[in-house]
Amino acid sequence: ISILAIESSCDETSASIILNGKVLNNIVATQSVHEKYGGVVPELASRAHQENLIPVVQEAISTSGISKDQLSAVAFTRGPGLMGALLVGVSFAKAFARSLNIPLIDINHMQAHVLAHFIDDPKPGFPFLCLTVSGGHTQLVLVRDHLDMEVIGQTQDDAVGEAFDKTAKLLGLPYPGGPLIDSYAKEGNPKAFAFPITRMPGLNYSFSGIKTAVLYFLRDQLAQDPDFIEKNLADLCASIQYTLIEMLLVKLKEAVKQTGVKEIAIAGGVSANSGLRAALEELSKKRGWKLFVPKFEYCTDNAAMIAMAAHYKYLKGEFVGLDITPLAKMKF
Ligand code: ATP
Ligand code: MG
Ligand code: FE
Repeated sequence: ISILAIESSCDETSASIILNGKVLNNIVATQSVHEKYGGVVPELASRAHQENLIPVVQEAISTSGISKDQLSAVAFTRGPGLMGALLVGVSFAKAFARSLNIPLIDINHMQAHVLAHFIDDPKPGFPFLCLTVSGGHTQLVLVRDHLDMEVIGQTQDDAVGEAFDKTAKLLGLPYPGGPLIDSYAKEGNPKAFAFPITRMPGLNYSFSGIKTAVLYFLRDQLAQDPDFIEKNLADLCASIQYTLIEMLLVKLKEAVKQTGVKEIAIAGGVSANSGLRAALEELSKKRGWKLFVPKFEYCTDNAAMIAMAAHYKYLKGEFVGLDITPLAKMKF
């Protein structure tokens, strides 16, 4: 079984080939056009996908050692994501599958983020809990099998990655600010400033409050000292990061208590955060959890995870017709 997988839900154009469940490559073209706008501009993302997709697919095929006539199926991200961006990938996948007369497989991007854990060893055992933390999502997922998973908690407003990026912007840092907060935080005191921990009912999250809290805090401080941010950048970053991680961990601990599941996985771009990783490692040691952290390449958007998901769907014969359409919002 060899499958070509395509990812185009946001600002990464990616293609990957998987052979009998083993990922052979993962070609990613990251779009830099969005940097100067401080966020992803949907129309520009679509145009960049249009430009990058064929070269990325060509590279994936040529470096795989598999010719396109040997492919068993074509897989693509159906959603969730930016409609215009998804359309580029879906249209290409349909045309390519049709021209080769092979089946088409649709993939849920968030399910694929979880299945990134099956690309390399060690792999989590079922059931496990996955904390998916990215630029657009924050979810606690109970994973019973490769294609059987349930969202048991999620953000009701902003995603945690968004909270990182938006508070970074308030500090005058360029987009995406998440990785910069991470690096400044290493030199700072996480208890220097206290920001409120938002508590939502059940296993749900809310990350919109911290943005406002930081905004008003900075406004008051800057009124007294215009150099406040400059002088306290490391402490501010450490304190914001500490607050966001606390909010993530409170619900994760609650989820472990509710489900009794102690195999814990993290996925999504924010799982690169060194503070989150350190906190999870410490917590896992203390509580006897088994922790799984994928390679960074497979945390952010990539087609290898789409390919992995497609492999499991292929085994079950879950194919779609050419009338399939992308979905900006998509549940499991
Ligand atoms: P989604 O998967 O929800 O559609 P996305 O694909 O855009 O969203 P990812 O590419 O998985 O999200 O992750 C990007 C996010 O991860 C950004 O918000 C970025 O700031 C954040 N991020 C990346 N590295 C770090 C880090 N070291 N610390 C904190 N945040 C980080
Ligand atoms: Mg991205
Ligand atoms: Fe993603």
